[in-house]
Amino acid sequence: MKTLIKNGTVVTATETTRADVLVDDEQVALIGLSLDATADTTIDATGSYVMPGGVDVHTHFDLPFGGSFCSDDFATGTRAAAFGGTTTCVDFAVQDYGEPLRPGLERWFEKGEKAQTDYGLHMIVREVNERTLNEMDRLVDEGITSFKLFMAYPGVFMNDDASIFKAMQRAADSGALILMHAENGGPIDVLFQQYLANGKTEPKYHGVTRPASMEGEAVHRVFKLAELAGCPAYIVHLSSRDALDAVKEARDRGLPAYAETCPQYLFLSDDDMARPGFEGAKFVCSPPLRPKDHQADLWSGLATGDLMAVSTDHAPFNYKGQKDLGVGNFAKIPNGLPSVEDRFTLLFQGVLEGRLSLNRFVDLVATAPAKMMGLSPRKGTIAPGSDADIVVFDPTHERTLSAETHHMNVDYSCYEGLPVKGLPKVVLQRGHVLVENGEWRGREGAGRFIPRTRFAVP
Ligand SMILES: [Zn+2]
Repeated sequence: MKTLIKNGTVVTATETTRADVLVDDEQVALIGLSLDATADTTIDATGSYVMPGGVDVHTHFDLPFGGSFCSDDFATGTRAAAFGGTTTCVDFAVQDYGEPLRPGLERWFEKGEKAQTDYGLHMIVREVNERTLNEMDRLVDEGITSFKLFMAYPGVFMNDDASIFKAMQRAADSGALILMHAENGGPIDVLFQQYLANGKTEPKYHGVTRPASMEGEAVHRVFKLAELAGCPAYIVHLSSRDALDAVKEARDRGLPAYAETCPQYLFLSDDDMARPGFEGAKFVCSPPLRPKDHQADLWSGLATGDLMAVSTDHAPFNYKGQKDLGVGNFAKIPNGLPSVEDRFTLLFQGVLEGRLSLNRFVDLVATAPAKMMGLSPRKGTIAPGSDADIVVFDPTHERTLSAETHHMNVDYSCYEGLPVKGLPKVVLQRGHVLVENGEWRGREGAGRFIPRTRFAVP
């Protein structure tokens, strides 16, 4: 089975070329001028960019929360991702308290059986002890090469500095990458108890009680601990200037210090959390949305390379029936936003606005995250031998983001009514068409688990 993608502009993290792409079976075989190879299928990409399928290394599908689950599972979540131009997600398996890592991982393999795109897994380590440290080594051998720890949510996810340091030492030995939720959970916990006790229960206080200074402090601590342990570290969902400053400081000293941000921190702000009534709950996530003036710093961090990826932290909860658990108490609002489908096109607006080059855009949505998380060269680029995960992207298509038209299984959009330019017209995974002109051609279970290689400096 051969597919020829003709007359498009092939864009990778480094080159922009008018060229055709020949896909043979599941891989890219040839990139060249006016290829006249005989193909079973020809896709006309005139006027479109031919880009690598997006790689979103931070999703939460089928995540348990307070007796229910977030509203996208692997079937609906990966389908929505692909409609938006993302063909590989790396999700987080969660260790339960009192359990080793293995049962949590097995639960996520089971959930992943429904995946419609390829996926990888990180492992969330809630309890660091001799047993889990030994298990980490074995997981690395099986292609789970990154471990997420939390400095926030005391009693739920939080690890103390000693535990974090032990896990970092182990990662240094095994070649794993430590991912960190960096917010100082102690003072945040004190603040939100005090606000609730004073009757300040509206959604906006979720943000007020999680100040950017406590994210900056935690990021600084992560890189000090990682330096001592001799391991690389990656900050997930970086939201603020304070945190970015701490990343820059570590990178300027030459440390293997990395960070991603998310579309919500580039396009939304604490004003959204302060919308009238309970509507602010739609925007409750952690770290919280920041004042608007942080956005320009994050965009420039993406342009300069201090931030190396844009992921989503996709964790959707319906406004009716899930978010409203927190009416009268912001601490009970499920944390998380839907955005797995919108990431690719939202970030492309940064190209149109002159904030990012086209190649830097591809780097941020596909190439760099694939390299960072051990998926390269199979994922994240268009090159002979790489998986034929390809997006034919029409950069001129004008549309409006809305819950009416999105494919995520959630009853609202954070970007309701936002006009954007650009549409993934055709999306292929390993040569198979997933999306073609708005129609879904994929199937449940067709996505494969992709074992990832050990961390290598990207
Ligand atoms: Zn997350």
